[in-house]
Amino acid sequence: MNKQCNKCNEVKPYEQFHKRTYKGVQGLQYSCKTCQNGYNTKYRNEIRPEYWNVTDGYFSHRENWEYIADYRRANEDIKVYLIKIKDWFYIGMTKAKLNVRLSTHRADYKTKPGWLPALHKMWDTMSTEEIDESLASTIVLETKPGTRYQGYKLEKKWIKFYKDRGYNLLNMQHNR
Ligand SMILES: [Zn+2]
Repeated sequence: MNKQCNKCNEVKPYEQFHKRTYKGVQGLQYSCKTCQNGYNTKYRNEIRPEYWNVTDGYFSHRENWEYIADYRRANEDIKVYLIKIKDWFYIGMTKAKLNVRLSTHRADYKTKPGWLPALHKMWDTMSTEEIDESLASTIVLETKPGTRYQGYKLEKKWIKFYKDRGYNLLNMQHNR
């Protein structure tokens, strides 16, 4: 069986793709081992060297990176933001600067496809320009000082607010 790599676009046999497990379902990575390994090395050496951990290996705690990074920037106010994507909306919360969070969104989409299932699925149907446009549409719904916990509560409140008014939200499958 063959599969096309989303980075080099080459069609390669399944063995050329690392396995990935997402929500208990086994599948294959979107990019081939060659591309993935190149990316990992680049990531390790250039992009986020501070997250390289010899004991744990560089991918074992990958899911914690954003979390750790957010904590390091946690001196910012809570911001609940709204991204318009076609006729849909995504509501998020951050304690980082908004532009930092938005670039993390962009990076997550590349490095952790499916991390935010509904949002990423929608982006899959869009061009890079359209995705950038959607990110540029982001507005801040509310900002105030507080902890991450308070931030998530505030985010929930806004999700409910939009949901109750019948807006299409891309938050549905996203539970913290
Ligand atoms: Zn490839």
